[in-house]
Amino acid sequence: MGEFELIRRYFFPIAEAGNTSAIRLGPGDDCAIQRIEPGMDLVFSVDTLVEGVHFPRQYDPEKLGWRSLAVAASDLAAMGADPVCFTLALTLPDADPDWLSAYARGLAKAARNFGLSLAGGDTTRGPLTLSLQVHGTVPKGQAIQRSGAQSGDYVCVSGTLGEAGAALDHLGSDSPGPDVQAVLARYHFPEPRLALGAALRGRATAAVDVSDGLVADLGHILEASGVAANIDTDRLPLSEHLKRLAGEAAIGLALNAGDDYELCVTLSPQVWADLPRAVRSQLTVIGKVVAGEGLTIERNGYTESLPAGGYDHFRN
Ligand code: ADP
Ligand code: MG
Repeated sequence: MGEFELIRRYFFPIAEAGNTSAIRLGPGDDCAIQRIEPGMDLVFSVDTLVEGVHFPRQYDPEKLGWRSLAVAASDLAAMGADPVCFTLALTLPDADPDWLSAYARGLAKAARNFGLSLAGGDTTRGPLTLSLQVHGTVPKGQAIQRSGAQSGDYVCVSGTLGEAGAALDHLGSDSPGPDVQAVLARYHFPEPRLALGAALRGRATAAVDVSDGLVADLGHILEASGVAANIDTDRLPLSEHLKRLAGEAAIGLALNAGDDYELCVTLSPQVWADLPRAVRSQLTVIGKVVAGEGLTIERNGYTESLPAGGYDHFRN
């Protein structure tokens, strides 16, 4: 089977993965066609993953299939967008049918889970690199941007933080125990918070997905919004798996490690009080937005202040 035959066989079926009513034309022509309903904005983003940089060499292709779409879809979640479709630009050193079918299997699973149909792509030869462009929609003007945080808002995060970071030390583990298995699953199979993001439209004042670490990503909100924040490390949501595995280091991982793909959002205390229980239960308040610049972290009775823009350099 040739490379293109493989693509047709394994990838074209993923065109049926999501709600296809918006896809006027899927893969196979020069372009795909997406219908945008009146009153909707198209929200789109592209993510590139390079072997050895964004994922380990010899990484399991089925896991890569899930992960490559999950990290791209997470940006849609952060904007509060409803997922529609994606394109896939694949650069491969060679056309290994086993690799391609395993990658497509993981990708198809993710696509069905997230409701994203494959609308087209490009296939080229070169060092293993994947670029996925995701498309979503929101009612006009309702995408959640980074720039809307207001003094007095709560800072919230979804789920638990730090587990994907803890997994990095265990990627080569032969017989992982249950705690290691749990954190490895967070690294290999991130779950973009698409339903939560959509539920926060018209409620959250700002949102970002935690790909580079809470401190760095919350920093983007603060800079874009022209505000400061205080967070309390006692409030950080940590799983029992992480606490058992990392002990004292859990807080540092939750603050600085990336790859969790949870959402960090700001919203007013009034909106928090009025949130449907099913939405509020996915979030933890970890601090507050205040006037000024920079991020203040309360930890063990000490207060650490990070200047605006200093987030990238902060390591516990
Ligand atoms: P063109 O030369 O017009 O850009 P291609 O020969 O690159 O078209 O691709 C042919 C069709 O196959 C296009 O519709 C394209 O979207 C689709 N396609 C190519 N590679 C992929 C891929 N990796 N995943 C999904 N669709 C793909
Ligand atoms: Mg063409």
